[in-house]
Amino acid sequence: MECRLDGQVAVVTGGSSGIGRGIALLYAQAGASVVVNYYSGHEGAAEVVRQIEAGGGRAIAVEADVSREADVEALFAKATGAFGAVDILVANSGIQKDAAFAEMSLQDWQKVIDTNLTGQFLCARAAVRLFRAQGERGVSKATGKILCMSSVHEVIPWAGHVNYAASKGGVSLLMKSLAQEVAGERIRVNGIAPGAIRTAINKESTEGEAAQRLLKLIPYRRIGVAEDVARAALFLVSDMADYVVGATLFVDGGMTLYPGFEDNG
Ligand code: NAD
Repeated sequence: MECRLDGQVAVVTGGSSGIGRGIALLYAQAGASVVVNYYSGHEGAAEVVRQIEAGGGRAIAVEADVSREADVEALFAKATGAFGAVDILVANSGIQKDAAFAEMSLQDWQKVIDTNLTGQFLCARAAVRLFRAQGERGVSKATGKILCMSSVHEVIPWAGHVNYAASKGGVSLLMKSLAQEVAGERIRVNGIAPGAIRTAINKESTEGEAAQRLLKLIPYRRIGVAEDVARAALFLVSDMADYVVGATLFVDGGMTLYPGFEDNG
């Protein structure tokens, strides 16, 4: 049995670049129709749609700011308008606005929490409401699936990034609490905590000398790529993971294994 998503519709937020792009492309290969949400990267989203269509799949690009309630409502309305239903949400959008703690502006604190945490709340709420309204569609063992994109920084403290770490710590318990609340309706909610994945969000730390320093934090000695996360994301929303509920899958090359203790501490 393969991880297939035939007949299903997936909304991928921040699907125009990086990890979201990788997930959108792989879900389409697995048979899903994909709603590629973008915020500022229209060209990126259009390119993802073109690639999916070139491979014989179905996709649309929809602009929405996940931190704005009206935008999220419109995103789901456009998704159902185009494809008739939504079976999978990947709440992937996220940003960093780094600063030393004492220098961090309220604006930068708020912006990261609004996008990374409130954005996941708004998208997951819209998805749960829609899954309930749709009921059983006969395309999956679950009534609906939600995947929350977290980070290893849901458990690893991160000096200079308190807004980001706080947002991902929040995502962890948002995901688990929601999973507990809706599991009885056969809505499966899970999370992925990526480690260092080479994308636009961390260009500076994954190239050149900085990359060498970063590799010391990764027991598997390789910086990840979007496809590493996409494959885990496909498994978690497929029926192969039908009994996986409220779990966070760490896709991090062992970054959370306390690499400082590798040589006996
Ligand atoms: P990325 O910058 O390529 O992707 C982030 C996406 O979020 C972009 O498409 C961006 O347009 C979108 N976005 C930003 N603000 C938005 C808003 N208000 N509304 C809608 N979309 C918005 O970086 P990425 O690495 O692909 O990040 C994807 C997710 O993975 C993020 O949640 C990030 O925190 C998480 N993550 C990434 C890494 C990594 O190493 N790259 C590690 C752990 C977690």
